Amino acid sequence: MAKQKLVILGGGESGVGTALLGKTKGYEVFVSDKGKIKEKYKQVLIHNEIEWEDEMHTESKILSADIVMKSPGIPDKVSLIKQIREAGIPVISEIEFASRFTEATIVGVTGSNGKTTTATLTHHILKQELNVGLAGNIGDSFAKQILEDDFENYVLEISSFQLDDIVNFRPNIAVLLNITPDHLDRYDYKFKNYVHSKFRIAMNQTKEDYLIYDADDKVIVHHLEKHPVQSTLIPFSLERPVENGAYLDKENIRLTINNNEIIMPTENLTLEGKHNVKNAMAASAVAHLLKIRKQTIRESLENFQGVEHRLEQVLKINKVQYINDSKATNVNATYYALESMEAPTVWIVGGVDKGNNYEELFQFVNEKVKAIICLGVDNEKLMNTFGNMVDIIVETQFMSEAVKIAYKVSESGDNVLLSPACASFDLFENYEDRGRQFKESVRNL
Ligand code: ADP
Repeated sequence: MAKQKLVILGGGESGVGTALLGKTKGYEVFVSDKGKIKEKYKQVLIHNEIEWEDEMHTESKILSADIVMKSPGIPDKVSLIKQIREAGIPVISEIEFASRFTEATIVGVTGSNGKTTTATLTHHILKQELNVGLAGNIGDSFAKQILEDDFENYVLEISSFQLDDIVNFRPNIAVLLNITPDHLDRYDYKFKNYVHSKFRIAMNQTKEDYLIYDADDKVIVHHLEKHPVQSTLIPFSLERPVENGAYLDKENIRLTINNNEIIMPTENLTLEGKHNVKNAMAASAVAHLLKIRKQTIRESLENFQGVEHRLEQVLKINKVQYINDSKATNVNATYYALESMEAPTVWIVGGVDKGNNYEELFQFVNEKVKAIICLGVDNEKLMNTFGNMVDIIVETQFMSEAVKIAYKVSESGDNVLLSPACASFDLFENYEDRGRQFKESVRNL
């Protein structure tokens, strides 16, 4: 029988991982990338005798595929994708393809914010007692791990773009952290489409599978009411008691699943902020479902070191705490950062504004922010929005300068917080670059 042709669009981590897995599983594989494929990935493709091209798409070859795996970065509106679909060729994502080749227990974490933190925390707890991999948008691709490590369990961080192209993907445990407007340019500027996309995480679940979700999130709750899912529901809430799930009982997380209760004082959590209490609830619910011992769950929450660029404590200089939250690329993430500030704060904000509405931040800015440093190419909207709210508001285009100004205007006991609420592409390569430059500037003070 002729080999099935697998065409992979996008030669990044997930594309190359899929190529390796596809080849091993007997597909004829072709990788095509309109941009430049990184040297390290080229070497892998060459070494494994996988055909590839970059800086072009040979349509005739692509349209002869039996199946296409599309990198999550490629939007549906690209004409090549339209042609592929018109030709009736199935288009799937990496998690869809890879999950067809594993029997492992799958935990899928999605949401607008908190995916990396929660997936990493969940993995941190599970790995104390289980053989478990961490994949999705983190580290080595899921496909590559299936090929090389073959874990018995996986925690996957899953974006809406990955979910858009699933067919049969069915996580045993799904976590839906929150849904706030993001990436709307990929969803015809309709929030409803984005919400539907996120809920695809549960679309193939049955009542043997679990959906852990934020019961305080009105968008999620409303959608569940209108479009019930088959999954067994495990809610978590900071606002009210829930029956089969987790909630905040005074200063304790109370998590009950099938009458089996575990209580954890929030003051012992290493991660700060209310959003992280939610993330901890979600992660411990997963662990509880997978029968991790209560003591292990508690200890793991107490020693988790957090993830770089997410409310990361950098240094204390002259009793001023410098905090790197460069990953806050939207208003909702910054909301939680400001909310968690317990001292007067010098706030570094700005970058590429994705149509932000800053209103929900006003209360915290009034209460906690003593100075604002706008760091972006175009700071006009920030200056206009917050100009009347604080005594000091300045702008700059250089991270080193932003940090020096912060150093000058801060006093003993203050925080200096980088939480931009914006994308980084105007002045930096990406949010990691922005976070690293911040830390370097702080260290140079
Ligand atoms: P993601 O992977 O979904 O982008 P991250 O864990 O990288 O999420 O966190 C992104 C930003 O959102 C950080 O600034 C972080 O402090 C903030 N954040 C983390 N968890 C939550 C949450 N549950 N709700 C809102 N914001 C959050």
